Amino acid sequence: MKQTIKIHDKFFNRYFGAEKIQKAIDSLVQQVHDDLGDDEIPIFIGILNGSFMFVADFIRVYPTNCEVTFVKLASYEGTESTGQVNELVGLTEDLTNRTVVILEDIIDTGNTLSKIYDIFEHLPIKQLKLATLFFKPDVFKKALPIDYIGISIPDRFIIGYGLDYDGLGRNLKSIYQLKTENIKNIVLFGPPGAGKGTQASILKEKYDLIHISTGDIFRKNIKNNTELGILAKSFMDDGDLVPDSVTIEMLKDEVNKHRTTAGFIFDGFPRTILQAEALDAFLAEKGEQINGMVALEVPEDELVSRILERGKTSGRPDDQNESKIRNRFNEYKTKTEVLKEYYEKQDKYYGVNGLGSIDDITCELIKVFDKL
Ligand code: AMP
Repeated sequence: MKQTIKIHDKFFNRYFGAEKIQKAIDSLVQQVHDDLGDDEIPIFIGILNGSFMFVADFIRVYPTNCEVTFVKLASYEGTESTGQVNELVGLTEDLTNRTVVILEDIIDTGNTLSKIYDIFEHLPIKQLKLATLFFKPDVFKKALPIDYIGISIPDRFIIGYGLDYDGLGRNLKSIYQLKTENIKNIVLFGPPGAGKGTQASILKEKYDLIHISTGDIFRKNIKNNTELGILAKSFMDDGDLVPDSVTIEMLKDEVNKHRTTAGFIFDGFPRTILQAEALDAFLAEKGEQINGMVALEVPEDELVSRILERGKTSGRPDDQNESKIRNRFNEYKTKTEVLKEYYEKQDKYYGVNGLGSIDDITCELIKVFDKL
């Protein structure tokens, strides 16, 4: 049996095999059957595509009468007033007064699960239970009940036994984990106006990384008038930092949207020690780390004139008023600058001169990125 396999562009290490999976399924079946008893005829509903192997092996050992069906969760954009619409495709059975047991292959953030609950809540069923083969406790954030859990795993991307990476890997008998040693996670650091956004846009292409700018995410939320945007706006307009708890949760959500990336360029995050510590802990759960903090070093006077110049076209309220800009520097000096020391202590700080042409600075950054 192969210990390492390649699928598309990624490498995966063998994590565990069919025996451990079957043991977990046997235990799930026993718990479900103990709860439902011999007389209840449940209808098991597998959520496609990932659950097909799990459901087959589960049903094979279920000791009394049961029915089985499969559904697929489809999401599409509705009208402006309905927003995102979720629909179960393939459900033709009448579930009135039935005991429904949903069988999920894996639950991580719980986003899919909450959509499923939303739908089943409105059906006239007798009772709803949920069993999942794999569960990632570190990322699950919803206050929703999961009745039966097979195997809890750390927050690493897995494939095999029905689970895929971009369509492939479902046929593997064992579970494989994404190899994370080659992942580059870089904090692009520097005061406001240092050129982080400009450089990140160039470097993300070169290294195939995901660029996360917390400032951009906040601005997008403000534009779309979301709850997060409304909350962030008052802080941002004055040049203050948005509270840590809000920013950290938002960052985690954004990272979790990209499960198989080659890494991230963090731009504008972390900005406080608490954020840096949260980021370290969050990446450690995934078996990853920050490879380096790469800082653009630019004197403050140069920055103020750069930002005022940018303010003429950026449309950002916090770019257009010198006292707000000065406040952003004040926030930087009192809360953010200490992060240099935080990463120096870990031997991860790399300073780059941020004065010069965009191309020259990119060249300097590439020299550092190549080493990380
Ligand atoms: P930026 O686009 O990075 O200059 O960020 C603009 C503004 O967004 C900042 O002045 C803060 O109000 C807010 N912001 C962005 N990132 C963070 C963060 N990591 N922590 C707190 N506030 C942030």
